[in-house]
Amino acid sequence: MKKIVSVLLATLFVCSLFGCSANAGSERFSGTVYDAFDTVTTVTVYDSDKESFEKHLSAFEERLKHYDMLYSIYDDVDDLVNLREINEKAGSAPVEADGEIISLLSFGKECYKLTDGAVNICMGSVLSLWHEAREVSINTPEKAYTPEAAKLKDAALHTDINNLIIDEEKSTVFFKDGAMKLDVGAIAKGYAADRLAQYIKDNSIWESYAISIGGNVITSGYKNGDGSSKWNIEIENPDASSGKALEVLSVSGQAVVTSGDYQRFFTVNGKNYCHIIDPKTLMPAESFSGVSIVTDRGSALADALSTALFILPFDEGKRLVDSLERTEAVWVSKSFEKTYSQGFEDYIKQ
Ligand code: AMP
Ligand code: MG
Repeated sequence: MKKIVSVLLATLFVCSLFGCSANAGSERFSGTVYDAFDTVTTVTVYDSDKESFEKHLSAFEERLKHYDMLYSIYDDVDDLVNLREINEKAGSAPVEADGEIISLLSFGKECYKLTDGAVNICMGSVLSLWHEAREVSINTPEKAYTPEAAKLKDAALHTDINNLIIDEEKSTVFFKDGAMKLDVGAIAKGYAADRLAQYIKDNSIWESYAISIGGNVITSGYKNGDGSSKWNIEIENPDASSGKALEVLSVSGQAVVTSGDYQRFFTVNGKNYCHIIDPKTLMPAESFSGVSIVTDRGSALADALSTALFILPFDEGKRLVDSLERTEAVWVSKSFEKTYSQGFEDYIKQ
């Protein structure tokens, strides 16, 4: 089992309960799931009673953990062809995989096109060098190091997404380059959150909820009964010394996702190295301390975009966001100055 490296929620819920009619006959409940996607998941929902909530929460938890294992590149799971197994075997021959893996990887290919290569799920060979360096540096600070440039360059020879061959009909995955590896960390939580939203809907589990999978937030319905109060979602401030949220957004049906340099990083000789790697330099992206996305077009898209905008120069990122309807962003510079896309402020709680 992966260990939880961060119990810091990137996003907190500020929920209050007033009179209820849209959530009629319902009560508000909150729950927490640990040990999925290497982070903490919080659930704030309306449900008929405690027993029903607990039953639903446990179904949700099981499903969440299923996606975590399916999309894991680290865990070896009995009787499950997950991404770790695909990374091991798809370089030799096509591997048959669950449709939910096929659709995630197809979405990954779309993300590459959309972000002009900034988000590349085939960068596993490069990202694993950074992952190893982070693990060693955090666990044994006296041995802290960053990957050698020559090793990064060699690894980067095996990151061509055109070598990821997905056969949707046969439901198989094949790597034309035997040394290629997948890393879906930039999109998996957001993608799983959308799949979970569908599961919640299909099984009539909850209508009104705000769910945060380590800061990947999905919302539905309202935080009160009469439909007048949207969910308030706090975005964590990269400037921890500020003592207040970066923003409180008012949303219903939108996803809110943040990528930040404070979420996962390690330190070598006093310099911090974050977990988001610019494919052009093979080094951690250094332009921003955080970027958050709000959109009603799904949390998978928001997840991909937050990573992409964290990497891309501001002008390119802004062009990308402006090209997508009902999708807004806030960039936070290294000196904690905020820049909004055109419609972002409409989501800020008054
Ligand atoms: P996020 O926290 O959603 O911004 O995603 C960061 C995670 O995505 C990292 O921990 C890596 O696993 C992975 N990652 C980092 N840089 C990239 C990149 N340029 N393209 C695709 N995945 C990346
Ligand atoms: Mg992301």
